[in-house]
Amino acid sequence: METVGTKERKSDAPVSTLAAQIVQAAVRPDISVGELAQLAERDPAFCVRVLSVVNSPAYGLGRRVTDMKHAAGLLGIRGLRNIALSLSLSDMAPLGAAGEALLGISLRRASAARLIAETAGHQAPEEFFTAGLLLEFGILCRARVDLEGAAELARTPASTRIVRERAAGEAPHPTRGAEMARQWRLSDDVALAIERHHDPEPPPDPLGRVGWVAERVAAIFEGGDFSSSRIEALRALGVLGLKGEKAEAVFRDVPKRVEEAAAAFQRSVGSQMSLDQLVMDANASLVQLNQNYGDLVRTLEKLVIEKEGLAQSLKEANERLEKLAATDGLTGLYNRRAFMDALKRDLARAERAKTTVSLIMMDVDHFKNVNDTYGHQVGDEVLKGFSAGVLGSVREGDVPGRYGGEEFALLLPSTEVAQALIVAERIRSKIERTPFQGAQGPFQVTASFGVASVSGPGCVSAAEDLIRRADEALYAAKHQGRNRVVVGK
Ligand code: GH3
Ligand code: MG
Ligand code: MG
Repeated sequence: METVGTKERKSDAPVSTLAAQIVQAAVRPDISVGELAQLAERDPAFCVRVLSVVNSPAYGLGRRVTDMKHAAGLLGIRGLRNIALSLSLSDMAPLGAAGEALLGISLRRASAARLIAETAGHQAPEEFFTAGLLLEFGILCRARVDLEGAAELARTPASTRIVRERAAGEAPHPTRGAEMARQWRLSDDVALAIERHHDPEPPPDPLGRVGWVAERVAAIFEGGDFSSSRIEALRALGVLGLKGEKAEAVFRDVPKRVEEAAAAFQRSVGSQMSLDQLVMDANASLVQLNQNYGDLVRTLEKLVIEKEGLAQSLKEANERLEKLAATDGLTGLYNRRAFMDALKRDLARAERAKTTVSLIMMDVDHFKNVNDTYGHQVGDEVLKGFSAGVLGSVREGDVPGRYGGEEFALLLPSTEVAQALIVAERIRSKIERTPFQGAQGPFQVTASFGVASVSGPGCVSAAEDLIRRADEALYAAKHQGRNRVVVGK
């Protein structure tokens, strides 16, 4: 089968039916109704299904439509897309009890959204039907990898689905559904309606708002505490100005509309409980059960919040630990192990980017004398002051490390040896001019520097060699009288 204009996103498509291809072709800005009809005509079975939807009482087109071109002409691009979308969604819910549960929650929201839009006097109620159909898209997408898990979620009260998803450590279905809708390149207002249908407050745009209300209307038919769901739904309908008899009519008509919509897709979603039956149920023994159910959900909610809080603290503690494990306690510079890791990483990068890496090894001169003269604590202060001097001379991306007792290393990525020499000289002269305070009065220290560079292929394996050459240069600097920079071979 040929794909139309969907090549680059094809792997993202949740299903690869012709219906899904039509959905994706229909959102292309340059597509024409004729092209779309032509694409649809490639699959006679698909045409039969489209015509059966178009001619069903649920669609209410009035005229009998007999061929695809005619249907496409009447429906327009958006109408055809809506039907194709509905058919792909119905394909995502397989035949059988699990599929029925999934199709049920989708068609309930779709039917409720259309009914609400009609009652509120919105134009183009089909757009609302489609958006409603997609509200639980995230759960339908999950069904492709875990049918039973998704169906179980569909059978739990609507208001508890998100907390269950979070408890299972999964992305909530509004987020997941919106992401998939964007992958399908559906319009942004549809993606937003999906994303926000469980928000505490109704979204501002008409599509999002009707979807949000439809979610609450659908919820009263899906178990849980009936009377509080009903109050929620009434409050939601009130947002659209639907009150009293108008609101009651919406409640009353939803079950019938769901059955009609299912019939239009030649599917079954089981017989729908009417509002009266629900009220009777609620008045009977369910009240006690629902009370307990509410308690259980609240406990679950609390546990999830605690679990998420714990996960966050654990993450922060791990980050702190990681940082601690990589830094030297006295100076705050990278410790030797972290420095070596950084060196290997930067050498690999240099090999790929064909750049030069330079290394400066530095060692405080006659440091033993500092300890002996002023004490170990003052010695520590000198090491901290030395580190601060090094840190003040580095650019972003340079890696300063404490290599040993009073030996430091500075790694300079993308730096030629001549530039590294200048950096080393700058640090040397800064140290020389930094005063330290001992019990016997102020004093100064100096340091010696060895510089080496590496570039070109094979430099990844040159870490040890680079350090050895910089060390040898440092040794030469000591030998030549200290307080100087020597460039290694
Ligand atoms: P050179 O100029 O040849 O480098 O002479 P040096 O005295 O600096 O070198 P040597 O290696 O003989 O002595 C280094 C001294 O640094 C010995 C060690 O006790 C001291 N040292 C190492 N780590 C620390 C530290 O963390 N704090 C302090 N205060 N001293 C340290
Ligand atoms: Mg020393
Ligand atoms: Mg030393």
